[in-house]
Amino acid sequence: MAELVVRGGSVYSRGRFRTADVLVEDGRVVGVESKAAPGVEEVDATGLLVLPGAVDAHVHSRDPGFPEKEDFGSLTAAAAAGGVTTVVDMPNTIPAVDSRTVFEEKAETVSALAMVDFALWGAIRSTTAPADLEGLAAAGSVGFKAYLGYAFRRANRQIVYTTDLDDPDLEAPPDYGTLVQLAPALAGRRALLAVHAEDPSVLRRFARPLRDYRDLLAARPAVAEAIAVAALGVISRETRIAVHVVHLSSAAGLSAAAEARRAGARLTLETGPQYLWLTDADQRRLGPLMKLFPPIRRELDREALREALLVGEIDIVATDHAPHTDQEKLDRSWDDAAPGSPGVETLYLSSLELGRRWADLGAAVRWVSEAPARLLGLHPRKGVIERGADADLVLIDPNRPTAVTAARMHSRQRHGVLDGRQFGFAVRAVYSRGVLVASDGEPVGRPGHGKLVRRRYGS
Ligand SMILES: [Zn+2]
Repeated sequence: MAELVVRGGSVYSRGRFRTADVLVEDGRVVGVESKAAPGVEEVDATGLLVLPGAVDAHVHSRDPGFPEKEDFGSLTAAAAAGGVTTVVDMPNTIPAVDSRTVFEEKAETVSALAMVDFALWGAIRSTTAPADLEGLAAAGSVGFKAYLGYAFRRANRQIVYTTDLDDPDLEAPPDYGTLVQLAPALAGRRALLAVHAEDPSVLRRFARPLRDYRDLLAARPAVAEAIAVAALGVISRETRIAVHVVHLSSAAGLSAAAEARRAGARLTLETGPQYLWLTDADQRRLGPLMKLFPPIRRELDREALREALLVGEIDIVATDHAPHTDQEKLDRSWDDAAPGSPGVETLYLSSLELGRRWADLGAAVRWVSEAPARLLGLHPRKGVIERGADADLVLIDPNRPTAVTAARMHSRQRHGVLDGRQFGFAVRAVYSRGVLVASDGEPVGRPGHGKLVRRRYGS
């Protein structure tokens, strides 16, 4: 007898929706059937969508290093509440995840707080050696992130954005040369290189005090993104490595990516709900809460990103969940506000809404679940509801709207750029490996349930 049967929902499995029962044993899906025998625990999903849990490929847990902004407990509570059952954490925590030792230490520390499963990115520094990549890959890092223009502070082992390259405590940022140098090691492992793609030389040239939103757009022009994407395209084509461009924000960046692909580059593209929903006009309402790197741009950029997502030129939607304290965001000037916004909790609802309006619901499931799971080597354990997959199940009511308000959010930073939006779906129940971790938008899971998911590389 199955431990859990989720009965009668509209299940998204093998590329389509159908009314079915999902059977769960030992935390795994053991069947998707039309008339399953009774289970020990029965859940009635009539009238609900039953979807694979989202895999948010781009979050900043801030843990360890910045407990006042977020930790793995608050991150994964927010994730669970929103139907994200795997968070994939970026390596710019303290210390930066630049070696196998740091990777294992971080995994151990944060798993004590994790309510849902997690995976980790490794960091590339200008001094990273092939042996460092080897160690991180052996530990199960999903890939390697390079922050162009971000230096490494030796004293506290932190990755920091800077334009001051004379500080003796700072190790030079990784540049295109670093990536070319490390390409053979990456290609040999078939490892994924993820890059924050804003060309630092352009940013340095255009840096200015930010008095208003126009200054932010001028300081980080779309051409900086397009130049970085074009350079990454050349690096991919010439060295045969797979490059993932995170948080793509502009029509110019998209054109550069399309051209690079035509020329033979292996590029995957990610964008986020913030770039798909908002434009520069929203800054009048949101103020410096809307300060993000790269910035939210103009209507034509949003239209181009939506179009690219619908036709499959953009591969995944991930949030770049990047919380700060209220003091670092609210009541600050454009200059002083910290860049970033929380977002993990609204990933699924906002993407389903885009899917319903512009494509179909199945496409939205692929953007946030199956496609990132495949990209990061976590499929078929994650990203699908099929026999053998982890029973990460999200039950969604397609007829009950959810209003995004700070009061109902669970990240430590409750105000985000989607404040005030309403989406026509509600998260009713979330299961992580068959265990209920959220109910009606409230986290009910246990810290410590979440486990590290390691990517396995072929030899
Ligand atoms: Zn990020």
